[in-house]
Amino acid sequence: MPSVQNEVLYAMQPELAPTDAVPPARFGAKDVFDLSWKSLLDAYSCTECGRCTAACPANTTGKLLSPRKIMMSTRDRLEIVGKNINQNKSFVDDQKSLLHDYITVEELRACTTCNACVETCPVSISPLNIIIELRRSLIMEESNAPQEWNGTFSNIENNFAPWKFSPDDRDLWAAEA
Ligand code: SF4
Ligand code: SF4
Repeated sequence: MPSVQNEVLYAMQPELAPTDAVPPARFGAKDVFDLSWKSLLDAYSCTECGRCTAACPANTTGKLLSPRKIMMSTRDRLEIVGKNINQNKSFVDDQKSLLHDYITVEELRACTTCNACVETCPVSISPLNIIIELRRSLIMEESNAPQEWNGTFSNIENNFAPWKFSPDDRDLWAAEA
C-alpha cells in the first residue's frame, strides 16, 4: 500500500520519502463509507451459510469472532445507512459506525488472518478484507492496540525488528558462536 509505505518512510527513512505525496483521507475503514464497493457487495452476497465460522480457528477456540457475523453486521449497517439516506436525501450523522457499534474491538483482535474463511466460502467473498480494514483504522487512526503489540510496534520503529535489541548488536550471535 503506497500510502502506508510513505508513512513508514516518513518515520524511518525520511530522506527517501516523496515530498509531493498526498496523505489519504483516512487509513482503513471506520464505517461502511470507507469500505470498497467489493466489500459492500460481499455483504449482500453472503448466504449466511456459516461455513466460514465453522472453519475459523478463532471461533473454534471460543473467541468472540465469527466471520459470518462480520458480513451480517456490515449488511445491517448498510441497511441503516441506506434508510438514513432515503429519509434525509443525504446521510445525516447518527453517531454510530460499523467499527465499535456493530463490530467490536474484541472480535477484530481475535482474527489471526489465516484466510480460512475466504478459502471455504462457497460464493468467494471475503470477511477478512472487512476485518483488516477495520483493524487498520483501529491501529492507525485510533492507536488502539494491546500493550504487547505497542511494544512490538515501537521496537520495529526504533530497532528495525520486533525485538528490543539495537540493530548494531544484530550480528553478535555470530561472533559468540
Ligand atoms: S482470517 Fe480471521 S475470521 Fe477468517 S477464518 Fe481466519 S481467524 Fe477466522
Ligand atoms: S462462508 Fe461465505 S456465504 Fe457462508 S456465511 Fe461465510 S461469508 Fe457468508
